[in-house]
Amino acid sequence: MNVFFVGAGPGDPELITVKGQRLLGQADIIIYAGSLVNPALLSLVKNGAAIYNSASMTLDEVIAVMEQGVKENKLVVRLHTGDPSIYGAIQEQMDKLAVKDITFEVIPGVSSFLATAAALKQEYTLPDVSQTVIITRLEGRTPVPEKEKLVKLASHEATMCIFLSVHMLDNVVKELIDGGYTKETPVAIVQKASWPDQKIFRATLATIAQLAKENNIDRTAMIVVGKVLSTDYALSRLYAPEFGHMFREAK
Ligand code: SAH
Repeated sequence: MNVFFVGAGPGDPELITVKGQRLLGQADIIIYAGSLVNPALLSLVKNGAAIYNSASMTLDEVIAVMEQGVKENKLVVRLHTGDPSIYGAIQEQMDKLAVKDITFEVIPGVSSFLATAAALKQEYTLPDVSQTVIITRLEGRTPVPEKEKLVKLASHEATMCIFLSVHMLDNVVKELIDGGYTKETPVAIVQKASWPDQKIFRATLATIAQLAKENNIDRTAMIVVGKVLSTDYALSRLYAPEFGHMFREAK
C-alpha cells in the first residue's frame, strides 16, 4: 500500500489519529490541503520528504504526483482537513486512482463539526429535543440537490451543522426561518474550532447575522442551529438506574 488519504483533524495538530501521525512521519511525499490543514502538522514530516500544497494544483496534477510516487515505490500521504469524507473531494481522487489500478487506504479524521461540539461543550443529540444531526451546506458554486435545500431540511428542526456557508449567513438564516425554525432558535458559530485563535459566538436566528457582521467572522467557521443549544432536555435513559442494558442490570 503506497497511497493514504489521511484526515488531518480540525486544526489542533494533536487531533490527528495515531495512525495518521505515524503515516505522516513515514511519508516520502505529502500533498496537503493548504487552505485548512494546520501547517504545524508538517513538522511531523521526516527530513527530505517532498511537500506539495494542493491549493495551487489541479486534480490531474495531484494524481500525477501520486502516480509518480507509486512508480518509485514511495509512501504518499494525501492530507485532508477534518475527515476526508465530508466535503473533501476525495471521491474523484480515489476513482482516478482505481482506474489506474493504484491501491490506497483512507484514515479517518476528527471532522470540524465534532471539534465544534467539543468547543461548545455540547451534545448534539439530546433526548426529547433532537436525535438527529444534519450535516449540510448552503448552495454555493457547488449545487445542492433540490430535496436537500436548507429550507426543506429546516422542517425537521433537528440539530444542524452547516459547513461552508458562514459568508452567506443572511441567506442561511432566511432559509432556516422560512423552513420552520422559530426566530428564537439558538445558533452558535465556532470559528477555527480547536485552533489557538478559536472563537465562539452565540445568538438566536434573529440576532446572529448582526453579531457575525460586527465580528468579521471568517470562512473557517461552523454554524450550529437547534434547540439542543438551549438547556431543557430529558435525562438520557442510558444512565438511568431503572434502565437496564447489555452491560448493566436495572436496579
Ligand atoms: N473535511 C472537513 C470539511 C472541509 S469543508 C471536515 O471534516 O471538517 C471546509 C469547511 O469546514 C469550512 O468552510 C468550515 O465550515 C468547516 N471547518 C473546517 N475546519 C473548521 C474549524 N476548525 N472550525 C470550524 N469550522 C471548520
